[in-house]
Amino acid sequence: MFKGFTRFLQSPGEHLRSLFGPEDVAGASHELRIIPREQHPVSRQHFSDAALKVLYRLHNAGFEAYLVGGCIRDSLLGRMPKDFDVATDATPEQVKELFRNSRIIGRRFRIVHVRFGREVIEVTTFRGKPGDDHGDHIAQQSDDGLLLRDNVWGNIQEDALRRDFTVNALYYSIADFSIHDFANGVSDIEARTLRLIGDPATRYREDPVRMLRAVRFAAKLDFHLAQATEAPIDELAPLLLQIPPARLFDEILKMFMGGHGVETFRLLRHYGLFAMLFPEADEAMAELPWAEPLIEQALASTDRRIAEERPVTPAFLFAALLWGPVQLRQASLEAGGMPPIPALQAASQQVISRQLQHISIPKRFSMPMRDIWDIQQRLPMRRGRRVFQTREHPRFRAGYDLLLLREAAGELEPGLGDWWTAFQQADEHEQRRLLDKVGANPAGSGAPRKRRRRRRKPKNPSNEA
Ligand code: ATP
Ligand code: MG
Repeated sequence: MFKGFTRFLQSPGEHLRSLFGPEDVAGASHELRIIPREQHPVSRQHFSDAALKVLYRLHNAGFEAYLVGGCIRDSLLGRMPKDFDVATDATPEQVKELFRNSRIIGRRFRIVHVRFGREVIEVTTFRGKPGDDHGDHIAQQSDDGLLLRDNVWGNIQEDALRRDFTVNALYYSIADFSIHDFANGVSDIEARTLRLIGDPATRYREDPVRMLRAVRFAAKLDFHLAQATEAPIDELAPLLLQIPPARLFDEILKMFMGGHGVETFRLLRHYGLFAMLFPEADEAMAELPWAEPLIEQALASTDRRIAEERPVTPAFLFAALLWGPVQLRQASLEAGGMPPIPALQAASQQVISRQLQHISIPKRFSMPMRDIWDIQQRLPMRRGRRVFQTREHPRFRAGYDLLLLREAAGELEPGLGDWWTAFQQADEHEQRRLLDKVGANPAGSGAPRKRRRRRRKPKNPSNEA
């Protein structure tokens, strides 16, 4: 936490200067507040050299240049900004001319990426209201209000009002280091509130992904949604079905790989959004008692690893998210007479192709995901060379991790996980002993809970592998 910020939050009113009457900012009932440098805790020390370079070069070329969005919001909350977004009145072409290391990206929403080594600064030209036309750039809207393109340039006030949440419409000026607050974002930060700017239903219709952003920020910042901001979500959630699967994949990564996956997942379910993204996983949770704990534990372990700065892969997470549907389909294929191994393969195939209609999972993640499922079938087979083949599989570790989660979630009787834990740690002699033990009772563990109990009469009850 920054020193002095608490004091700033306790008495913001007396420091703030109102420049505009309530109706002056594009007809909205917000006032612009300019908070001078000495009255806020955000300092250039919190920004990367790259971000400062971009700001200064734009400024020195005679353009307006501000840091905006998450980096200012997070700095005010005493958190380290994750990345830096710059807003300017320079057009993308003008920005590109100033920076050799830059390129214009996006069609729906054109911005410039300025690259410094591994860091990318996003530079966005002030957007105007979609209805106005300031030049030859166009905005397009579908019949149901979805913004198809948004490249109408505007001024900073218009730009602020078409951002999503009030706390994301705070601008840090490189000209005098003041913060411009166009939509009462500072008081919403104080109250830990996420509030959409403008009419919530209209803003969600323009871009339904804002519903996911609301949930993601609420989880990450420990904020709540303002009542009017949360009210329409229930009804509008199905609009997510219109969003291109590739964009949803990016959004899923931000939601689940950002260190607050468990909380995000709970909120997604609470607001009825999860079913729009993973319909089969949602159905599986209704049918299989272990499916929800399995997903929660996979997310919890991802969150933990991120906190410890250890690597995480979306493949493992997707494998856990979709394991319930895979099991349901495999069971019904087996009931129709298909043997287990082809049934798992066919089920995997079907679940993936259904899921791809909603979220595009790149091959580099879906292939390992299938391997992780495949390994689930091999792990109980612990005779002879098979054990070593399984152990050598490049995805063994992720497969073993999923096995542990399946046991912890109550899908499987515990035992097989411990056996593999011991096997990995064992020397050659000890491995042989473990294999002999299995020889005595090959089906001794790794069986589904219910079936196992029914089978439990036989001779060797103490011989747990
Ligand atoms: P973080 O980077 O921590 O995820 P952020 O708020 O910076 O959070 P970005 O996705 O980097 O989020 O977007 C930068 C800014 O652009 C946001 O703060 C917001 O002002 C604006 N913005 C981004 N996406 C949208 C959207 N879908 N609708 C309206 N404004 C948006
Ligand atoms: Mg950002």
